[in-house]
Parts: sequence; C-alpha cells; structure tokens
Amino acid sequence: MRAYKATDRVIDKVMIRRFMIRILAPVVVIVMLLQGCSSQKLSGAGDSPQSVEPGRTMEQQEDPIASDQTEDAEQDNEEKAENSGTDDNPSDSADEGKEADETPQPIDLNEVKPNEAGRIMVVMFHNFIEKYEKGDKAYTTTFSEFKELLHTLYDYDYRLISMEDYLNGNINVAAGCIPMVFTFDDGTSGQFNLIEENGKLEANPDSAVGILEEFNKTHPDFGTRGTFFVNLGNQTFGSTGTLAQRLEYLIDKGFEIGNHTYSHINLKTEAKSAEIIQKEIGQNQKKMYELVPGYTFVAFSLPYGAPSKELTKYVIKGEYEGTAYDNPAIMEVGWDPAPSPFGVKFNPLSTHRVRSSGIEPVDQDLGWWLVNMKRDNQYVSDGDPDTVTIPESYLEHVNQEMLGGRTLRTY
Ligand SMILES: [Zn+2]
Repeated sequence: MRAYKATDRVIDKVMIRRFMIRILAPVVVIVMLLQGCSSQKLSGAGDSPQSVEPGRTMEQQEDPIASDQTEDAEQDNEEKAENSGTDDNPSDSADEGKEADETPQPIDLNEVKPNEAGRIMVVMFHNFIEKYEKGDKAYTTTFSEFKELLHTLYDYDYRLISMEDYLNGNINVAAGCIPMVFTFDDGTSGQFNLIEENGKLEANPDSAVGILEEFNKTHPDFGTRGTFFVNLGNQTFGSTGTLAQRLEYLIDKGFEIGNHTYSHINLKTEAKSAEIIQKEIGQNQKKMYELVPGYTFVAFSLPYGAPSKELTKYVIKGEYEGTAYDNPAIMEVGWDPAPSPFGVKFNPLSTHRVRSSGIEPVDQDLGWWLVNMKRDNQYVSDGDPDTVTIPESYLEHVNQEMLGGRTLRTY
C-alpha cells in the first residue's frame, strides 16, 4: 500500500514537474526578472502563519517545549528537531533556473515591501545522515530532509549570503528575497567530505555541501554559502583527501571557515583560565594558517556555552604561541533570528542562531520560525546593496552609523 502510494506520488510529481518546467517556468522567470522574489507567495506565509505548514502539523506547533536551552543545547539530548521540508509541495520545480539580476531594477516599494532593518536567520546545523537511527535526536538532519528544506526555503524566498556579508551589511539578493546564513558546527563528514571522481576530488553528493551544489544547478540564485565552524584538532570532514584539500575545496567554492576551538573544549566547564582559552582558540587558528596560509577564521562559534564573564574577553581576542586572533563575531547556540546588520540591536559578538529542525520539532527551531515569523519582521531586500530601504515605522530600529555610505530610504 505504501509502496503503491509512493509510486503514485512520484508519477504525479514527475508530471507536475514537467508541466511546471515547460509551461510555468518561463512565466515565473519573467516575473522574477521584473521583481526578484515573489512577494505574494510569501505574504501568505507571513501574514497568516496558520495557513502554512512547512513540514509540521498544528498539533506539533502547539507542543509547548521550553526554549531556554540557549547555551548547553549541544549537550542536551532532550532537544530534537525535524527538518521542515514541505511534504507534498508541488511547487518545487516552478523555480528552476532563475538568477538574481545583477543590476537593480526599479521596484514597486508597496508591492515588494522591503525591510532591510528586519531580522535574518543564522541557521545552525550539525550532523547529516542517511536516515535516523536509534539515539539520533537533536542536531541531526537526514540528506532527504535537507533536500526538501532547500526547496522550502527557496519557495519562501530565502537566499543564502555569507557570514562576512551579513556582518558587513553587504547583502546582495534580489528584491523581495530574504537573506539567510547557514552555519555548520563540528566539521562532521555528513556536512562535507570528498570523494574521488575520475581522478578529481569532488564533494560527496551525500553530504550537505554536495546537496547544496546539486540544488544550485537548478536554483543558481539560492547560493552555495555557509560557514563551517571546525575543530582542527579533531577529525574534520571525513578522510578522503588531505585536511588542507578539504578546507581549500570549501573556500574555493565560496564557503567560509570559522573557529570552534581546537578540540571542542567546553569553555564553560573545562576552560578555567585565560591560558586554556587562548590555547584552544589560538591553536586552531595557528593550525588553520599552516593548512591554508593567510586564511583567518571569519567568526567563532561557542562549542557549548560561554565561559565566565571575566574570561569571555579571551574568547574574543587573544594569542597563542605568536598567533593572535580577534574574532569579529561570536556565534551562540541561540534560538531566535539575528538582527539586521543595520539594526540598533545588531551585536555580532552575541550572534543568535536558529537551530535546524531535527527528528522531532521543537519550538523556535527553524521549522517553527518558518511558520511563526511574519514576513514583515524579516529582512526583505530592496535588491540594491547600496541602499537600505525600510518602512517608515522601522526608522527607530536603524543604526545610522552602520549604513557605511549606503543610502537610507524610507517609504
Ligand atoms: Zn560543536
């Protein structure tokens, strides 16, 4: 019965896909060229959250789960999540082949409703696996869920930007699109590993990077961006190729590497002195310079919570055996979307992240936010990286000092 149904669905999907590609795709492309991301599609999602279900039932949404695991979440086996993904979303091929227009087109502000003071989700991923096994709970995503998730995010107008561009406010996504940052902690092989194909090293298609690369063949404006927070004292990204080759592959493709301490130490309980903290963070940077000369980590991600207040300054800045570090941003486990880089609340040294959904959804994971966050509260691009466009009502949320020569425009 299940097999029959599944086959049925595959056939349906294939037919819908063909129809979309042949008939609808050209229309969609024209619409996209005119206005970037489709605002109608998303306004439904944001304005009436209950009408949209990216992969969960209302029952699940209402399930009250404490959401205060902001620091120790990596230790917390109670936490689970499921990757959102749409179940039967037939629109997953309507978006093939669109690309962000390089020159910003004039937009209808009241139609696109840009809000570049709105929030941006910095999503945190950990493990990627083929299928769930007993014991897989928090922080684990299956490859198929990740594929579905990318379609969902794309359909909801999300586009990936780099951490560096988020931190510097260089946000270049099409009008109506919503920037999103992907982060990956721990350097697990499901995130990325190399395989040898015809004598060449390629990303394993069964890895998050391989899946992202594949998705970008049909959705080139989605972006292959993401920051990998690694512990270079531990096994990082599987075993094929050298560690330097693995890191260089990612950097060459536009991904970024961040610091997650040398050995994934618990800064809260194990790092009791300034020396230990500087060794863990500085040694990781030192190793990175040995592997990829000149590459400074783009940011730091706390392995577990932060150390004591007096010691936190050494997480930001320090030195180990002649290698200095000065982390421009600190990633927390967090639970909520981060402020716009132009917002008064922007604080890169305390960057909150949204947890990816895992096998069981929890409140304030990615799937939850996709349902519950209004489009109005999110960073919706005006399509022009040189202007910062916001609704009049958001003026007080903008830190004018962060504009960095960009023109502020209200409507
Ligand atoms: Zn970690």
